[in-house]
Amino acid sequence: MTAVKPVEARCDHCRQTRPLFLYEPDHGHLGASQFSCRWCLREKQPRLCVRCWGAEKQLEENDSAINEDAETMRQICEGNARAIARDDAVRAACDGIAEATRVAEENAS
Ligand SMILES: [Zn+2]
Ligand SMILES: [Zn+2]
Repeated sequence: MTAVKPVEARCDHCRQTRPLFLYEPDHGHLGASQFSCRWCLREKQPRLCVRCWGAEKQLEENDSAINEDAETMRQICEGNARAIARDDAVRAACDGIAEATRVAEENAS
């Protein structure tokens, strides 16, 4: 088994020679906030040492614009789920009315 050794080079943040990992942001955007987002505006993601990588991750997780987008996304998904549930309820009610009407007509004849 060959263990892959991370490359040692100068960290883009602290400029110390350490094993480096490419930072890849893990978030999405709704609307225009990506044009002011420090991660999305980067041409190239930095290579960071473990410590700086962790700090960067924290920054990303605590970014209010990203969190707002995530919250809006969550609300949209919840709204959709509610709309689907409502449609199902309406359909079930209509089926019930149709069935009741059919039974009533059968009994009347
Ligand atoms: Zn560093
Ligand atoms: Zn972004």
